[in-house]
Amino acid sequence: MLEDRSNYTLEDMDRMSVFHPLTSIETHMKQGPMIIEQSKGVRLRDHKGRELIDCGAGLWCVNIGYGRPEIAQAAQQAFENLNYYHIFGGASNEPMIRLADKVLTLFRERSGAPQMARVFFGTSGSDANDTNAKLVRYYNNLRGKPEKKKIISRTGAYHGLTTMAAALTGIDIYHKAWDLDGSGVLHTSCPHFFRFGLPGETEEQFTDRLIGEIEAMIAREGAETIAAFIAEPIMGTGGALLPPKGYFEKLQPILEKNDILFIADEVITGFGRTGDWFATGLYGLKPDIVTLAKGITSAYFPVSASVISQKIWDVLEAASPEYGPVMHGFTYSGHPVGGAVGLANLKIMEEENLPANAAKVGSYLREQLKARFGDHPYIGDIRGQGLMVALEFVADKAKKTFFKAGQNPHRVVAGYAPDNGIMIRGLPFTETLAFSPPLSITEGDLDQAMDALAKSLEQAM
Ligand code: PLP
Repeated sequence: MLEDRSNYTLEDMDRMSVFHPLTSIETHMKQGPMIIEQSKGVRLRDHKGRELIDCGAGLWCVNIGYGRPEIAQAAQQAFENLNYYHIFGGASNEPMIRLADKVLTLFRERSGAPQMARVFFGTSGSDANDTNAKLVRYYNNLRGKPEKKKIISRTGAYHGLTTMAAALTGIDIYHKAWDLDGSGVLHTSCPHFFRFGLPGETEEQFTDRLIGEIEAMIAREGAETIAAFIAEPIMGTGGALLPPKGYFEKLQPILEKNDILFIADEVITGFGRTGDWFATGLYGLKPDIVTLAKGITSAYFPVSASVISQKIWDVLEAASPEYGPVMHGFTYSGHPVGGAVGLANLKIMEEENLPANAAKVGSYLREQLKARFGDHPYIGDIRGQGLMVALEFVADKAKKTFFKAGQNPHRVVAGYAPDNGIMIRGLPFTETLAFSPPLSITEGDLDQAMDALAKSLEQAM
């Protein structure tokens, strides 16, 4: 007979049954879960009845906001029509075909990237980056360059947490005790001028120093051994880090000259968050591969995509008679319901012009944050682009010193926030709070969120 569990609360059952990702087991066993019961627009309600403005859009992903009935309808229709069939061996389905076509059209027409040629679907940003890491190896094997395999990533980067994606991720806490097999992964310096610029160094000099370091790395390792460079155009988990002036303009020709593929990880920056459809367009990037997830469905259904360029496709196509089928893919690649949800989501984004709203209210947010918190003794930098915004804490503003490891002032502030009516996340790389609400948020909601932040700051410090 099964044990009678009817006396257990949901909190008890969570503690006894759920293995939570990215959660301290020690803290969770003491505090229990925060159960989110409902969501609508930019707001969540938890099991304590608190109404919370979600300043994180979940994990930078619910771009259109919560609870849109159009998505539920599109999903229901798709479930009733074709709830699943795989796309191996040339099988296909209409919603997935149309979503691939839509993504390519957006890239070609709205982001000045006509070279993007095919879309490979997965279900998470991590698996898409694992796909990319495999693809660059496959590509070089197929074109007779089996030595060209290493991938350069950056300190502070976040590319996911499957084995290879975690190895590409450049933040130590994700590596500690996990024994990742990151063979062939190299990390170059984090492009965070505010934090890592040397005393007296200008932003341009900082860029030149970092680019020089990359050139030296390529020379040291040998260009013939390096397959790809992966970068988030704006680092997300690293702290909404905008590239320093001239960074990508100087980087890209070096990659081209050395026959190194450029993978733009647009898992966060894609689909409007920066105020542009893609950071590829925003910065005039020329990626060979783009990683997409999150905003492609606004997280209503797990879908990710690796978008590859014609250059890569041509090599794969030419080698096809010799190598046979591309032996890579997942049960849920190209899921028809994901396709339908993605299409309905992008329709809302286009009709409501949410990228433009992100640009407009994002500027307002940064202005207001600077006006309200710019003089705060522990807030050293307020930065961002569109609705990818961050506040970084400093221990001493005049001396520009930072908090010691483990002090985590940002996490203390974030801990007070729910009682004041917001969810806001402290990031793991530097002492930084991220503002990344749904792109549908209004200035009025942002004012309310900033009031709650002010209260939380006051309580914390
Ligand atoms: N790449 C970037 C830039 C991300 O921010 C994330 C997740 O936050 C990922 C990849 C991994 O995505 P997922 O959590 O869907 O595996």
